[in-house]
Amino acid sequence: MLDVRWTVSMAFSLMAGYCHADVTAYQGATLIDGTHRAAVEDATVLVEEDKFIAVGTGVAVPEGAKVVDVSGKWIIPGLIDSHVHFMTSGRMYTRPAFIDLTDKVPYEEEIEWIKTHIPDTLRANLCSGVTSVVSLGGPSLEYETRDLASRTDAAPTVFVGHGVIAPMPEFIAKQMIPPWDGELTLKPGMSAEAAVAHVQEAVARGADLIKTAIDDRGSRMISAMLWFADWRQFQQAVVAEAAKHGLQVTTHAHALEYARGAVNAGAASLQHVPADRPVDQAFINLLKANEVIVVPTLAIRKRTLIELFTKEMELLPIERKCSVPGVVESWDEPIPPADDQSIRYRAQGALAAANVGALYEGGVSLAVATDTGMIGIPAGSGMHLELRDMHRAGIPADYLIHAATFNSAQIADKEDEYGSVEAGKFADFLILGADPLADIGNLQQIEWVIKHGKAFRQSELLPVH
Ligand SMILES: [Zn+2]
Repeated sequence: MLDVRWTVSMAFSLMAGYCHADVTAYQGATLIDGTHRAAVEDATVLVEEDKFIAVGTGVAVPEGAKVVDVSGKWIIPGLIDSHVHFMTSGRMYTRPAFIDLTDKVPYEEEIEWIKTHIPDTLRANLCSGVTSVVSLGGPSLEYETRDLASRTDAAPTVFVGHGVIAPMPEFIAKQMIPPWDGELTLKPGMSAEAAVAHVQEAVARGADLIKTAIDDRGSRMISAMLWFADWRQFQQAVVAEAAKHGLQVTTHAHALEYARGAVNAGAASLQHVPADRPVDQAFINLLKANEVIVVPTLAIRKRTLIELFTKEMELLPIERKCSVPGVVESWDEPIPPADDQSIRYRAQGALAAANVGALYEGGVSLAVATDTGMIGIPAGSGMHLELRDMHRAGIPADYLIHAATFNSAQIADKEDEYGSVEAGKFADFLILGADPLADIGNLQQIEWVIKHGKAFRQSELLPVH
């Protein structure tokens, strides 16, 4: 519909000899621009080709521009999921080292399923209002998906964080995540030289950022390996080499002391939130002094560690609506009881949520991400699950919108071009039918998704069955 009007408008403008045909004015909505400024009523958002050119009240609409009346609606920036993996599907069969159902679906078969469904996964993101994602570790598939997304209209922008680079020997890395289509997905090393080599490979492949992990998973053996690899020096070596090439480092850490060490060694952001002990004031001060952003990924704790086992699923409407067919359905699969590691992680859920609240109260910047396709976390709609759980942890809706847009863009160091509705940035935004400040669940009331200026009705983005 929009395309037809666009064409008519362009033809008219060309006849008039006046070329504002590629300008569209979205008029009358309440604008929440992503910067955490107060919402603006009756705003005008001017889009030319793929960029915003003017935003706010009192914006003059050029003659010949196409005008779209969005009064009574809300505009927010497109959501940015700042931690995804394309190598996993969210299905019950996707992490055999965590839940082993290979007798039902062999891992090779799951890998084929994932490859076949990448276009659907991209579409599921856009359907859910997610217009950019940050891939944080995996095989070459992550880069290939970035390339595919850049050639696909109904797809988010994909940024690739090269990794996961981890201070551990190869045999441990293989146990944690088995090779994906013959490729190691954890990138292990036991020396600063190995760390530097991984970063150089990232640069050669055109990575957007670097991902490291410092995690012993509660195992004394792995803990000993981390010390043996001198994980602080390893992290410093990664950060220093990345900085030479203008790349930031984001670091996975579930334990407070690893998180503290990672930040002291130069991490720009932290993935997950410490869940082994309460965060202290010194940690909060350290994060603030270094402007480190924390990306909590809370939803995994309830969905993956509890609900998949109890089968008491608190599904959101958008999960059924936008998820790739076959993902949600797989969660009915009976599974073995939780193992010791799952039970230990499960027990940390309340502390993780409390720590998110404490970081927010302490003034630390937060971003929003899912860690999809971890089992139980669907691509795209998982963002709404995470927003719900962060809201339950005490984070208000106005901050969450800022965190899920502008702050998430910062994780990939792309906030100059993405993450807010401001002149000069890419025109990625959502038109909502209900007020997300009144209820964070209203972020699911998506009517239109505009990606790089191209408008899709959500109904055009629903999964193809
Ligand atoms: Zn992850």
